[in-house]
Amino acid sequence: MSITDYLVIGAGASGLAFADALLHESDAEVLLVDRRAEVGGHWRDAYSFVLLHTPSAYYGVNSLRLGRNRIIESGRNAGFYEQATGAEVCAYFETVLARQLQSSGRAQFLGRTGFLDHHDGIARIRHLETGEVEEVVVRRRIVDARYQEASVPATHTPSYTVDPDAAFAPVGMLPERAGDYREFIVIGAGKTAADACLWLLDAGTDPDRIRWVRPREMWFTNRAGMQPLEQVASILNGLADDAEAGAHARDVVDMCHRLEDVGRLMRLDPSVEPTMYRGTMLSRPELTALQQIGNVIRLGHVEAVGVDRLRLTAGGVTAARHTLVVDCSARGLSASPPVPIFVDNTIRLQQLRHNSPTFNAALLGFIEAHRDDAAEKNRLAPPNPYANTPRDMASMFTRTWVTERLWQGEADIRHWIEQSRLNLLCGLAERTGDVAAKAAAGRFTNHVADAIARLPQLA
Ligand SMILES: Cc1cc2nc3c(=O)[nH]c(=O)nc-3n(C[C@H](O)[C@H](O)[C@H](O)COP(=O)(O)OP(=O)(O)OC[C@H]3O[C@@H](n4cnc5c(N)ncnc54)[C@H](O)[C@@H]3O)c2cc1C
Repeated sequence: MSITDYLVIGAGASGLAFADALLHESDAEVLLVDRRAEVGGHWRDAYSFVLLHTPSAYYGVNSLRLGRNRIIESGRNAGFYEQATGAEVCAYFETVLARQLQSSGRAQFLGRTGFLDHHDGIARIRHLETGEVEEVVVRRRIVDARYQEASVPATHTPSYTVDPDAAFAPVGMLPERAGDYREFIVIGAGKTAADACLWLLDAGTDPDRIRWVRPREMWFTNRAGMQPLEQVASILNGLADDAEAGAHARDVVDMCHRLEDVGRLMRLDPSVEPTMYRGTMLSRPELTALQQIGNVIRLGHVEAVGVDRLRLTAGGVTAARHTLVVDCSARGLSASPPVPIFVDNTIRLQQLRHNSPTFNAALLGFIEAHRDDAAEKNRLAPPNPYANTPRDMASMFTRTWVTERLWQGEADIRHWIEQSRLNLLCGLAERTGDVAAKAAAGRFTNHVADAIARLPQLA
């Protein structure tokens, strides 16, 4: 039987960021368990060409930089801050485990270990190699870092059937199988599908040989408005755009169009109204490249992939023998409903500030270390579910802005946020001479109260 203060279920980015902050802010002991053999969560199963879609500068754990904050010199993201590859993210989290967590002498990690349940301060975990069940005495809390577990192509089950003889592959197998096919059908309307299409184009595939199943269209956030550090004015400017659009919009569609007009949001096909928003980022050159693919299948969701045909909810398309069907339909971000984060002896990690998963997990570690009362902790950490639609986006922005005001009223939290590398506005206080940042901050302040009042009416 083991004993620990905190048992963290899931050693993905969230569990690690929480544990890192807690260890730095308290003298607690932490045991992390994960069904996967190694730390890093979904990144361990990511396709080989995946990159962070945000800059590395504000991703990972608080105590250790990811990458070197370099500016990308060429390609479709030239001029932006570097984005780590999936392999770099995994290597980084291994370093985090060894150097930032285990070296404290207060943290342990058990891979290939599944959490089963807990009652009265005793948790049960199963060692997956042996099947053995072990009890763990948890003196303080169970931290559920899998509540918003990501769903990725390598491990999800598609919602459609696939004939065993169909030429079909999850996105991760694209590099090894693409050479055997002349045409491709990519299933999915989100970031993974965009990555797959960009990979195919970069591999020299004629855009006319790619068919793209997009049951609905997505609003993408322009990466230009998410650049930190020396370019932090870009982020403030984007936030000011959000607030200004929110303050004046007639409805949610109008808000999105206002954001499109100022270059904050982008869509692949200007003739179709997007009904999906997930906070996914693209650069303008990536969007332009993707717009070369004109063969878009809009017949609803795929129901069945056959040997020579795809059946969709509103029709069918043929797939000749030399066509590879590529699955990019995993949901990515979780759809778990919001629940209170601090309940009895359990902490359920969830989103607070939108589009900042590791910042949120680390801040929850800080709050856990510095506040005693569960009601007070929940007041400071209201859950903010991930968005799926533009309407959700409006609600999500509002929740973030209201919560940020609470944080501003708490000196220690405000200070932690200002200095945290995971805060996308990190270092702003030292850039008082940045005229563009100052102007954007002023514009945000002018509009945010009106947006907070208006958006709930629209949403
Ligand atoms: C392809 C992709 C790209 C992304 N890119 C970015 C980005 O650029 N920037 C950004 O900020 N966010 C990004 N995200 C958002 C992403 O959700 C977070 O970055 C983060 O990696 C999620 O980590 P997590 O720990 O919350 O979840 P996960 O990585 O899913 O980890 C949860 C872990 O819990 C474990 N687990 C589940 N149940 C049990 C159990 N019973 N017992 C033991 N272990 C269990 C799982 O094995 C898993 O390892 C991306 C997401 C995806 C899918």
